[in-house]
Amino acid sequence: MSNKNTLAYAQQLDNEDPLKAFRNRFHIPKLKGKDVIYFTGNSLGLQPKSTKTYINEELDDWATLGVEGHFHSQKRPWFHYHKFSKEALAKIVGALPSEVVSMNSLTSNLHLMMVSFYRPTKTRHKILIESGAFPSDQYAVESQIKFHKLPYNEALVEISPRKGEHTLRTEDIISKIEEHKDSLALVMLSGVQYYSGQFFDIQKITEAGHQAGAFVGFDLAHAAGNVPLELHKHEVDFAAWCSYKYLNSGPGGVSGIFVHEKHGNNPDIPRFAGWWGHNEEERFKMEKGFKPMEGADGWQLSNVNVLSSAAHLAALEIYNEAGMEALREKSLKLTGYLESLLKELQDEGFLQMITPTEPNARGCQLSLLVTHNGKAIFEHLTQSGVVADWREPNVIRVAPVPLYNTFEDVFNFYDILKKVIF
Ligand SMILES: *Cc1c(COP(=O)(O)O)cnc(C)c1O
Repeated sequence: MSNKNTLAYAQQLDNEDPLKAFRNRFHIPKLKGKDVIYFTGNSLGLQPKSTKTYINEELDDWATLGVEGHFHSQKRPWFHYHKFSKEALAKIVGALPSEVVSMNSLTSNLHLMMVSFYRPTKTRHKILIESGAFPSDQYAVESQIKFHKLPYNEALVEISPRKGEHTLRTEDIISKIEEHKDSLALVMLSGVQYYSGQFFDIQKITEAGHQAGAFVGFDLAHAAGNVPLELHKHEVDFAAWCSYKYLNSGPGGVSGIFVHEKHGNNPDIPRFAGWWGHNEEERFKMEKGFKPMEGADGWQLSNVNVLSSAAHLAALEIYNEAGMEALREKSLKLTGYLESLLKELQDEGFLQMITPTEPNARGCQLSLLVTHNGKAIFEHLTQSGVVADWREPNVIRVAPVPLYNTFEDVFNFYDILKKVIF
């Protein structure tokens, strides 16, 4: 046993952590009066203490101004509300502010993106996804294929890990793309795989997809706010994400999209339209003939869900202060620490970490395949104040989040787990 396996060591790491003050900006749920070890920020991020203020400001404006709040609210006129998140989102996903907009929810946005970027022709009609993609993505893709009256089994191309492996090799993704290069319309993968925690090589996959003549888009539900992204530079065609996981914007919170500039400024790209995507100078003229706004804004349908977006702004403000680079730096240390502690249990044969060991190929989440009594161990963890996540048949997902989790959380989790197992 090295001195890393002590509470004192973990506390020392917390003392040295330049981001440690951010934990106090969040409400931490409690069990029997004690802060839980909250490792499910990958599922629902915690509530910033400032969220209530942001939402209350909108409620007050609504109460005192009524409809006038659209233009005359004190802080954030509702008419322009979708613009207030742009700068922060652009930094988080590596985009120009005009390439991103927050709107709708994630699955709706995936559909809207596929309307524009999955336009099958006689020869090019296939979609490549990862097998075991998040169910909502699978259903969205299935229904898009069927909507175009194409044979589902033939139009859907799935890529699986090799036998005995849990994650995808980039070279295998690329050869799958090449194998279908004459018939591939769209490659749509996640940025970070929700089950395995694998962070895909967005740049290489995008290049391969483009070389094959396909569009390439990413579902960033588990990537946005978790890993460094360079969507603009890597020429990704589109992306969508939700804000309630790592982005801490509340259950069902507003989603976001990225549309690369090269498409965003092309008014002829087919899309499903609504008045909020129409040229804002003329929006209230209520005239015939849709003229899209430039950039991602041109994909908006409806006027902004202000209450949900207020929560989003409160959370983004904190991201902006902390900065993605510093967050990633801490995240690498925090997850690296967790990994180094769990190695002991892995070496003893009690669990297997199926998330890639290469830090550049993962975010903060580690997925633990528990060999024996997985469910019982998970239940014991829950009773001991660990909030983690169980995925059938035998995987526990834990995500130490750099904004509010501590090295002490990581140590305590390991300590509890070790005691259950031994
Ligand atoms: C969380 C998640 C979703 C959820 O979709 P909603 O439309 O927000 O309910 C979809 N896809 C992936 C990959 C996810 O991780």
